[in-house]
Amino acid sequence: MNDPATLAAPDAAGPVASHKPGGVPSGHSTRPKRSKVNDMTTWTLAQRAQRMNPSVIREILKLTEQPGVISLAGGLPSPDTFPVEVLREASARVLRDSPREALQYAASEGFGPLREWVAQQLKSQGIAHADAQRVLITTGSQQGLDLVGKVMIDAGSRVAVESPTYLGALQAFAPYEPAVEELPGDDDGPRPESFAKARGARFAYLLPNFQNPSGRCLSDARRDAIVAAAAEHGVPLVEDNPYGELWYDAPPPAPLAARASADACVYLGSFSKVLAPGLRLGFVLAPQALYAKLLQAKQAADLHTPAFNQRIVHAVIENGFLEQHIPTIRARYKTQRDAMQASLTKHLGGLAKWSQPRGGMFFWLELPAGIDAMALLPEAVARGVAFVPGAPFFPGAGGANTLRLSFVTVSPEQIETGIAALAQTLAEAEKRAA
Ligand code: PMP
Repeated sequence: MNDPATLAAPDAAGPVASHKPGGVPSGHSTRPKRSKVNDMTTWTLAQRAQRMNPSVIREILKLTEQPGVISLAGGLPSPDTFPVEVLREASARVLRDSPREALQYAASEGFGPLREWVAQQLKSQGIAHADAQRVLITTGSQQGLDLVGKVMIDAGSRVAVESPTYLGALQAFAPYEPAVEELPGDDDGPRPESFAKARGARFAYLLPNFQNPSGRCLSDARRDAIVAAAAEHGVPLVEDNPYGELWYDAPPPAPLAARASADACVYLGSFSKVLAPGLRLGFVLAPQALYAKLLQAKQAADLHTPAFNQRIVHAVIENGFLEQHIPTIRARYKTQRDAMQASLTKHLGGLAKWSQPRGGMFFWLELPAGIDAMALLPEAVARGVAFVPGAPFFPGAGGANTLRLSFVTVSPEQIETGIAALAQTLAEAEKRAA
């Protein structure tokens, strides 16, 4: 772990010093005079920056964060699941036992024992080739998506995605200017035949478990068929699995990475939904051919993921904490999932279509054709409930009549009140449309 060759030491000079040794930092005691020269400075944005957009969802959330509004719009785990005491105790332990290492610059690959733990965990899910040497600890799995984009996408490169798909992935890939293509699918996920069309794509980005936003979980047979089709047509797979542990009925089938050859799949995982997202801890299991490049991209991005957080999390999980903790999250979220299913059935039975998700955090609703969920949102907020319109999750056009509901940060009572308000809003819109 302390191999100096892999230590991500920054430039020794560090940032440009703004004060003289022993002197008063400049700007503290006297205000510098503004130059009288007419300032001709212009900042020219790179093309990639022009392609960056504020997350539509974050913008929508701002609209919906009003007192008295029941928000089914969020994408956050419940803070009631954060194991605060356990984290407090572990951080004290890390500071007591290894403060000099925990607070020092560290290896870009990640904390060795945590990489080992991740590899063992992945092996237990059937990914036989999961070796610690191929595990890269990342600053959330969101960073994994960015690194994959940086390393794999040229301007115009084809990238295949589900439709709908995780908006944060589209956002992560967008600056690298991919040509995003939808993989046509059905209720069981992308159709294996669609991989023929994806031949030549840099990769296909897939969320087999309780997808954000649709809640969909791919069947065992579909997973096999997708892996076979992707291999036949030479399409590399990027599998994103932040929700796999949040199952409420039965565990999901084994990941794609357990079915694909070691070099055919990048797998991304996260501690955000099973511990706490504020730790910003995720990981990538990468094929040999990609690992060094992802590592170099990470070095350039942030040198390494906070060593302190990695050691805290390792101290928390090394003795099997997650085995007791995750079932408590499942039990809580299942109650809320069941409450939302009951409220939807009661109030929205004839008005919308949905499938009860078997895990994850979201219900996905299809409204009658012609009803625009984005247009409905202000009315819903006025009636005291917020949701996320589905259209932004579609890489192309479409999805105007869809919406996403989160059930994990609200009580069953709030769910009932919120869904009743949503049903009223929708009934009004239907009347107007008729
Ligand atoms: N992938 C998916 C599908 C997600 O929903 C999220 C978070 N909402 C992420 C990746 C990123 O998670 P994190 O960076 O917290 O690990």
